Formats: sequence, C-alpha cells, structure tokens
Amino acid sequence: MKHEVSPARYWNIKECTIPVGKVTIIADFCKGGDDCDECIRFCPEKVLDRGTVPNERGYFPPVVVNEEKCTVCGRCQLYCSENAIFVQKIGERVVTPDEIGIT
Ligand code: SF4
Ligand code: SF4
Repeated sequence: MKHEVSPARYWNIKECTIPVGKVTIIADFCKGGDDCDECIRFCPEKVLDRGTVPNERGYFPPVVVNEEKCTVCGRCQLYCSENAIFVQKIGERVVTPDEIGIT
C-alpha cells in the first residue's frame, strides 16, 4: 500500500527560515545596459531591474526593485565582471508555504 506524504507535513515550515539581504550597487563601476545586465538576468528573485539614470560612463546601472526578496544567493555579485554589486546578509525571515509551493 502506497502512503502519500503531504510536502506541507513533511517540511516543518514554521522552522524554515531564509536569509534576507541588502544589495549595494556602485553605480560608477557598472557597465549596465545592453552591454551587461548580467546581475538582472541571473537574479532568481527578480530583485533588480534596469535603471534609467546613466552613470558617469554613460551606462545604466540596475536599480533594486524587490530588495525584500533577496535571499543572498550571491549570483549578482558572482556574475558582475566590474565588482559593481555586493550583497550582505542583514537578517532572516520565515518563508511562507506559498513561496516554496507547498500549500
Ligand atoms: S553585472 Fe555588474 S556591471 Fe553588469 S549591470 Fe550588473 S552591476 Fe552593472
Ligand atoms: S543575492 Fe541573489 S537574490 Fe539577492 S539580488 Fe543578488 S542574485 Fe538576486
């Protein structure tokens, strides 16, 4: 006989926390726009979007649009060839069942 185990029962979601990050962009290092946007493309949480204000080199640094969703995965920092973006963990929060698809 097969027993089905609900994912919501399997995971103790009350104990499941996730890091909360703060994103820092050094605008004048950035070469964002058509030549880059790697941080925007690789962010799994859609924290970043293309900015509309050019920096001193005429590029368009990204802007942070959903900082509360940053999980400090580090991909933006890893893929930035200009060392123009950094993340730091500033806390933790409990994830909701909706966020991880186990309602
Ligand atoms: S990856 Fe770096 S250089 Fe490219 S858009 Fe993002 S911050 Fe700018
Ligand atoms: S650390 Fe991860 S989640 Fe946070 S902004 Fe960078 S790529 Fe997105």
